[in-house]
Amino acid sequence: MVIENDRGWLRDLKTKFIFITGGVLSSLGKGLAAASIGALMESRGLRVTFQKLDPYINVDPGTMNPFQHGEVYVTDDGAETDLDLGHYERYTHARMSQKNNFTTGKIYYSVITKERRGDYLGGTVQVIPHITEEIKRSILEVADGIDVAIIEIGGTIGDIESLPFLEAIRQFRIDVGKENVIYIHVTLVPYIKAAGEVKTKPTQHSVKELREIGIQPDILLCRTEHFLSPEIKAKISLFCNVDEDAVITAKDVETIYEVPILFHEEGLDDKIVQLLNIWTREPRLENWKDLVYRLKHPKDSVRIAVVGKYINLRESYKSLNEALVHGGVANNLKVKIDYVDSEELEKMGCRKSLSHADGILIPGGFGSRGITGKMKAVRYARKRNIPFFGICLGMQLAVVEFARSAAKIRGAHSTEFDPRTKHPVIYLMKEWYDYRSKTIQRRDETSFKGGTMRLGAYPCVLNKGSLAYRAYGVTEIFERHRHRYEFNNSYREILAKKNLCCSGLSPDGQLVEIIELEGHPWFLGCQFHPEFKSRPMDPHPLFVSFIKAAYQTKQLRK
Ligand code: GLN
Repeated sequence: MVIENDRGWLRDLKTKFIFITGGVLSSLGKGLAAASIGALMESRGLRVTFQKLDPYINVDPGTMNPFQHGEVYVTDDGAETDLDLGHYERYTHARMSQKNNFTTGKIYYSVITKERRGDYLGGTVQVIPHITEEIKRSILEVADGIDVAIIEIGGTIGDIESLPFLEAIRQFRIDVGKENVIYIHVTLVPYIKAAGEVKTKPTQHSVKELREIGIQPDILLCRTEHFLSPEIKAKISLFCNVDEDAVITAKDVETIYEVPILFHEEGLDDKIVQLLNIWTREPRLENWKDLVYRLKHPKDSVRIAVVGKYINLRESYKSLNEALVHGGVANNLKVKIDYVDSEELEKMGCRKSLSHADGILIPGGFGSRGITGKMKAVRYARKRNIPFFGICLGMQLAVVEFARSAAKIRGAHSTEFDPRTKHPVIYLMKEWYDYRSKTIQRRDETSFKGGTMRLGAYPCVLNKGSLAYRAYGVTEIFERHRHRYEFNNSYREILAKKNLCCSGLSPDGQLVEIIELEGHPWFLGCQFHPEFKSRPMDPHPLFVSFIKAAYQTKQLRK
């Protein structure tokens, strides 16, 4: 338990804190670095957790366009969070929730709420101390029972927006004691071809900027294409005022799961435990080494076509990508993902876009753009016995396509795209029992805009004998949701007559969570997002099964 001292802060906290900042430019892989550090600490037997502090003003990324911000990662408790939380969960056993992601918007929201309530007793509410105290309070929320909390600050040093966060983490070290906090700065050491050497100046400048606001980094993670020579490390050490063995080469790697191993070889985890004065065993990295070996030595490959709207941005389907890779590793296969733009497919036709695919996957999505192309892909997979995996919107469109062309229900649609359809096979359910809040939920067309999505982990009961049951091997599962529309139960019977069965239902039988097509080698749609729960060490059963089926299709073709 945590105890407050007279400053309202916590002195006898057992937790150690690692703050991670980024310099020079964005996309240096701070999230992966944080996740990898977590993996190393965990493999030394420590309990870790993470937090992402994002400087933007949106309260959460739920409303942000995936084109701009990448995937929205959903946690068990239904938080819509930054995609880095996905990395944290994939690399460690830490489980993320609402309190593991704070934004400027969320911080201000709670400060303003307190101000309106009169909590500040007439005081002037200011960035320092009120916003910074709120930030520090948020950081402490994740610390209870944790050995090492890894806190990543979004954005790049020099951004105006991140200043309150940086000020808060600067103060934090004084609050909880110097021995309990380190700062790690992720920076870039570019290789300049014309000069034939790596350049340290951007790193020097970035560290200088960090020191101007009072933070002296303890460790530098230098992103680079080449290993840094001892001379370069010595130079960076001298100019940036860090120990030589704290200048770590974070070289580009073939697979992201190699990063923990690389960091360990560079001595990063040793340095961290030395600086934080933690006594632990040596890390056990056999499982990571085995994973990387299997990733690099697949017995064969499969091609999966992912038909979606955000195909030009891999970031938008981050977890999906990884889940496919995990499904591949489990089968000793390399998964080659072809991103197919559904609008292109609409124009070009399926044969051109999908003829090489051993499996077809339609991921989640919002909005009507490209849905005709996606439905064409469903039909193509259905007719040609190609393994088909529909996730959330992908499942809904599979139902629509099947209703129209196999069950001959003319004009069948989802009310998301045609509110007046005569046959709303997918619709907004007016009333349903919500297992998370344990209340009856009500919805109609006017209430659906804000905050009424079904979010987070829900139970689902599987039909014994179904494909889903064979994949999972258990009858009850918990999977994460993020959607408004649902399968319309009035159509269950007609569709079942044509072999489209509901093989996974909510425990009260009211919500259809999984549909399957009998007689097809592998045709499954789920209302939830299984990709959020896939881990490299624990691949998701549906992805394992889907990839296996895709490989069988490939074998048959030969
Ligand atoms: N747009 C659909 C809905 O809201 C599907 C959402 C999704 O795929 N995540 O129900």
